[in-house]
Amino acid sequence: MESAPGAIPRVIQEFCKLPGIGPKTAERLTHFLMAGDRTHARTLADALHDLAEKIRPCGQCFNLTEGELCPICRDPKRDSAVICVVEYPRDLASFERMGSYRGVYHVLNGRLAPLENVGPDQLTLDALVRRVRAGGVNEVILATSPTLEGDGTALLASNLLSATGVKITRLARGLPSGSSLELANTQMLADALEGRRTF
Ligand SMILES: [Zn+2]
Repeated sequence: MESAPGAIPRVIQEFCKLPGIGPKTAERLTHFLMAGDRTHARTLADALHDLAEKIRPCGQCFNLTEGELCPICRDPKRDSAVICVVEYPRDLASFERMGSYRGVYHVLNGRLAPLENVGPDQLTLDALVRRVRAGGVNEVILATSPTLEGDGTALLASNLLSATGVKITRLARGLPSGSSLELANTQMLADALEGRRTF
């Protein structure tokens, strides 16, 4: 009977599954974690455990959080009348790094990708429409990526929201087409937000 692989190959294997990590780096990281008194291994294990067990989507905007609502939705100083719609929590993080946006967010959890079987039902569009219908929202900024799929997602969101009468805007075309928001630098993103226009 074949025995389960030992802890070292298992960790190397798991590191290899991460984006941008090849077998050599995975091996180096694993050996680094085994050095000395294993403090790094223990603190990393604890942090990953918390990540897996405690983090969940915000009940309002679907940002990742530990509580019922994320810190942005809970912050009374944020302008809840302006909702910036992004594809992933990492896009939200890009906007937050910019530091100048004072509105709130809505995370779609992806974008329409028919070839990958991602349809409207996989996205949080219904929840977005409900949020806008509930009132108190003046503007929805569609900040999906400047790609064919991102544009298609923005168009669908705009169609679904049109009956609500809310003002719908789209980021300016300053961002390199076909790229993801994650790769846009802070100034590019700030310019795109500043120059947004009615959809
Ligand atoms: Zn939230």
